[in-house]
Amino acid sequence: MMINNHIIDLINYAIEKRLIQNEDFEYSYNRVTDILKVKQQHYVSNDNKRVKQLSIILNLILDFAYNNRLFTPNSTKQRDLFESKLMDVFSSLPSDLNKTFYHLFNENPVKATDFFYKMSQDNNYIKNDRIAKNIKWQSTTKYGILDMTINLSKPEKDPRDIIAQSGKNDTDYPLCLLCKENVGFYGNNTHPGRSNHRIIKLNLNQEEFYLQYSPYVYYNEHSIVLMKDHIPMNVSENTFKRLFDFVDMFPHYFLGSNAGLPIVGGSILSHEHYQGGRHHFPIEDAKEVFISKIGKVSFKYLVWPLSVIRLESTNREQLIDKAIKLFEFWENYSDEESGIYSNTDVPHNAITPIARKNGDTYILDMTLRNNLTSSEFPLGIFHPHPTHHNIKKENIGLIEVMGLAVLPARLKEELKAVKNALINNVELTQELAIHKDWLTELKDRYKGEEIEKFINDQVADKFMRCLEDSGVFKQTPSGIENFNKFISLLINALNK
Ligand SMILES: [Zn+2]
Repeated sequence: MMINNHIIDLINYAIEKRLIQNEDFEYSYNRVTDILKVKQQHYVSNDNKRVKQLSIILNLILDFAYNNRLFTPNSTKQRDLFESKLMDVFSSLPSDLNKTFYHLFNENPVKATDFFYKMSQDNNYIKNDRIAKNIKWQSTTKYGILDMTINLSKPEKDPRDIIAQSGKNDTDYPLCLLCKENVGFYGNNTHPGRSNHRIIKLNLNQEEFYLQYSPYVYYNEHSIVLMKDHIPMNVSENTFKRLFDFVDMFPHYFLGSNAGLPIVGGSILSHEHYQGGRHHFPIEDAKEVFISKIGKVSFKYLVWPLSVIRLESTNREQLIDKAIKLFEFWENYSDEESGIYSNTDVPHNAITPIARKNGDTYILDMTLRNNLTSSEFPLGIFHPHPTHHNIKKENIGLIEVMGLAVLPARLKEELKAVKNALINNVELTQELAIHKDWLTELKDRYKGEEIEKFINDQVADKFMRCLEDSGVFKQTPSGIENFNKFISLLINALNK
């Protein structure tokens, strides 16, 4: 039977990747054949152990499972759910994984994260074949290089799933996509397959947190740190302590928090979590302007589309103390000329803090945010404006604050159509009316240069403008003046 060969290929793959040991062969065979409801048989050990590509093996097995009515419909979502259940067979128990992780951590934290990241890919929790489809480029802007990505790895909603699931009630377990109850969870209407999902327990600020990798990998070793309890996002004194505890543990990673308010916050506000990873972001190369040194803490501001104050110190306590004071100062700061009102009946000012370490120096980027809306800008005054929604409409979170664009999948095809319209001087179809004004601008600017690069740079220019829209103090003479006014008042307050 062919399916038996595919199962043996899968087990050989798992042994080769050291997800399991040779001694686990029979155990794994019995478990996988049981999941697939395949008649077990004595198999001849295959001498030709050339390991096949995982996605090929899995596709064959999933076709078999679908044909044998083990799941339906034959959508990406249902295939993913079933696949994660299969790969769970080759994923350690959470307790064993944590033991191995901390054993390596005591040798070297880099070894521990390398091990966990590799495992998360080898067991296909992170689907590298899908992530490879993401489109990436870099473009130079007046603020320096920006990293651009069109994310194609998140599966789009399949109408067959929606039909299949209508009428089925969701439970409230797990409470959200971040909750630790997702570990080993099969998935449902609202939850993706997490049977092979694993997390590492962390102690940050004497509180229980967990480290996991993002399955969509927007950048290298894209990590999520989530709180044990399902409680709402809130930036406070504790946030800074947790961020620095994390970078003390993992100096090769950064960790940042989205603001705790809607519009300027993360996509999941209901569960306290942070994002980190191992990637050099454009903001790290932004031009710095020195402001002042108070005690052992240096203050700089960045020449950047958003309003960012950088704090640096080798003294962690002093840095945290100043960060809290800056945060409190900003929370109550209003500037009518810049359209910044800290409070109406609710608070509007927030901070996106991002921590990292360079040798012994702690670096904290504090991005000033405000979530006011108006009749002209119902989605947010300091949010990408409607003229840029053809490229990006979504919230500007901490990843984008750092200069990495995560653009919607629809752009892959839409940009092709725009390119075609530009080169052949034709009109866009009605469905692409959203790009019409932009195309007119592009026609003005296009002077026959290499089209691919031209479009990429123009998309980056749009993204840069989305970031500028999100900046509370604009990069204009009056905006810079107002930013300087804020800075001098802040330094006065901190010197008191
Ligand atoms: Zn939760």
